[in-house]
Amino acid sequence: MTETITKPCIGFIGLGVMGGPMALNLVTAGYPLVVLDLVPDKVAELTTAGARAGTSVAELAREADVVMTSLPGPAQVRELGCGPDGLIRNMRAGSSWIDLSTNNLEVCRELESLAAEHDIGLLDAPVSGGDEGSRAGTLTVVVGGDAELYERMLPVLQVIGEHIEHLGPNGAGYTAKIAQVMLCYVHTLALGEAMMLGVRGGVNVDKMLAIISNSAAYSYASERYGPCLLDGDYDPSFTLGLSLKDLRLALELAKSVDTDLPVCELVTNNYATACERYGNDANHLMAVRLLEESHNTWLRSESQGNNNS
Ligand code: NAD
Repeated sequence: MTETITKPCIGFIGLGVMGGPMALNLVTAGYPLVVLDLVPDKVAELTTAGARAGTSVAELAREADVVMTSLPGPAQVRELGCGPDGLIRNMRAGSSWIDLSTNNLEVCRELESLAAEHDIGLLDAPVSGGDEGSRAGTLTVVVGGDAELYERMLPVLQVIGEHIEHLGPNGAGYTAKIAQVMLCYVHTLALGEAMMLGVRGGVNVDKMLAIISNSAAYSYASERYGPCLLDGDYDPSFTLGLSLKDLRLALELAKSVDTDLPVCELVTNNYATACERYGNDANHLMAVRLLEESHNTWLRSESQGNNNS
């Protein structure tokens, strides 16, 4: 006789670029799912796939065995987690919360102490791998929190991720994520500068990107973002506002561990200027557009017609 294992009910909040596909993968894997988002269309996509729409944060919290959140940042995580009608005060004792957002240590400490008071298990489990990794269920997930809870939650994490690493107590996941993502922005701006240098020196822009991609200067940024510069869409899968949030988290973390990050400071200033000029909701690669505008030179593929004088 085969034993039927009942899957835990998951409450998922934040169905954006990253959370939407993760939630879809969970419902496809057979997890009972209750979902919430501020945007009704995002909820509708999941209910069509078999999830139930939650009626409030408190109701979702009471129903779920495991809550998962993929929210913009610390402010939203704190608001949803710690308020009187929030997650922790309404979750059942013994249930668990996995926060997949890129979040900071200050909020982490608040969640940790409130969760302990209410006997809620807590993991920080921020992700990387972009929208395509989220759709494919191949994200990298860096986890902080109790080791036994991590082992228990592993089957759920394996639905969304391929490279899953338990790094230590609560906060270790957020710390690793912030350090990793900071490097991504450094690479992105440096990619723009290298391409600009080549193009202004007379090298064909498509060839310049191909040379970078086939050299020691290769990076995720050159592979994933280079083509989005060439086609001029500046990559709609992530916003300038979230980029600036991540970079500010890196500077905040650096201060708290007494570490100087001069390159990160320069890059953060560039993203802040881009946010002021183009708005927080603009595509994140608009950070490179600042360089394009100041040189009146566009890193556009020949096939797009680059209008460079
Ligand atoms: P997003 O803005 O696309 O999604 C966030 C979702 O949260 C939105 O759908 C929004 O409506 C919802 N939301 C916000 N406040 C809410 C509330 N109070 N109640 C219910 N829903 C609420 O952002 P994203 O790109 O999916 O990023 C989510 C997190 O993952 C962020 O912390 C980000 O830094 C991190 N991240 C993003 C990427 C990426 O490539 N997009 C990669 C790695 C990590």
